[in-house]
Parts: sequence; structure tokens; C-alpha cells
Amino acid sequence: MADTRTIARLIKPVGFYNTKAKTVKRVTRIILEKYKGKVPEDMEELLTLPSVGRKTANCVLVYGFKRPAIPVDTHVHRIFNRLGVVKTKTPDETEQELTKIVDRKDWLPLNEVFVKYGQLICKPIGPKCSVCPLNDRCQWYRENYREKN
Ligand code: SF4
Repeated sequence: MADTRTIARLIKPVGFYNTKAKTVKRVTRIILEKYKGKVPEDMEELLTLPSVGRKTANCVLVYGFKRPAIPVDTHVHRIFNRLGVVKTKTPDETEQELTKIVDRKDWLPLNEVFVKYGQLICKPIGPKCSVCPLNDRCQWYRENYREKN
């Protein structure tokens, strides 16, 4: 198994890479010892791993196993609340709501599409509402921009 410094170097573009390298090492050891080197494909098992919450577990299911799931990070949570599609306080609540209203066939690409959307258009600060193709159906746009102009 690679040492923590090597893992840190390999993941370095990621924020908090030193702390994350320690976690990667811990999780790797558990996967090797408890799961014979196979990453579990099951949400409940994934959630028992250190530092693995629902977003990470869902990412493993979607990007590792192409299993339908909806990873909800800060971008997905923010955009769907701004649009008014959901009214939720946490990403986990947003995931619950989205799994009820989004067609299952659209679950796989949803995270990738909306993370990119959140980085490029519906940014946390200064969203580019004037060029957003969703602005005619966006609650945040109606309340914070269009009605004031
Ligand atoms: S109109 Fe603005 S706030 Fe609404 S989804 Fe588009 S960028 Fe985000």
C-alpha cells in the first residue's frame, strides 16, 4: 500500500490533500482487510467507511459502478433550491426530494451536469442569470433580479 505522502502527492490538486490522504489510507486498509480489496457496491456498507457520507457513497455508486443514484453536493443543493424545485436545508434532504421527482433514467448524469452548471453559470456568488437558459422558470431569478429591474 502506498504511504500517506505518496497519496498526498497524487491527489494534490484536491483541497486539504494531506488530511484526505490519511483518510484514503484508512479506507484503503479497511477495503483490503474487510472487503478483500473490492469496494462495496452497497450504500449501507459504504456509509460505514470513515469520512464517507451520502454524497461520497452516491458518487462511488454513480462514477464507480454506474448505478443510479443522485450525489448531492453544494452545487446541486444550491441550484435546485434557487430554481424552486426543492425547498430543503441540507444536501441529504435535497437528495431525498430529487429521488422522488427526477426520472430514474436521469439520475446518472445529474450530478456531473449540475456541478459543471454550478461552477460556470449558477455560481454561489454572482450567478450569471442573464445568460442562464433556466431563468424564465427560476424562483431565485424572479425574486432577486427580475422583480427589482
Ligand atoms: S437564473 Fe440564476 S439563480 Fe436561477 S438557475 Fe439560472 S443562474 Fe441560477
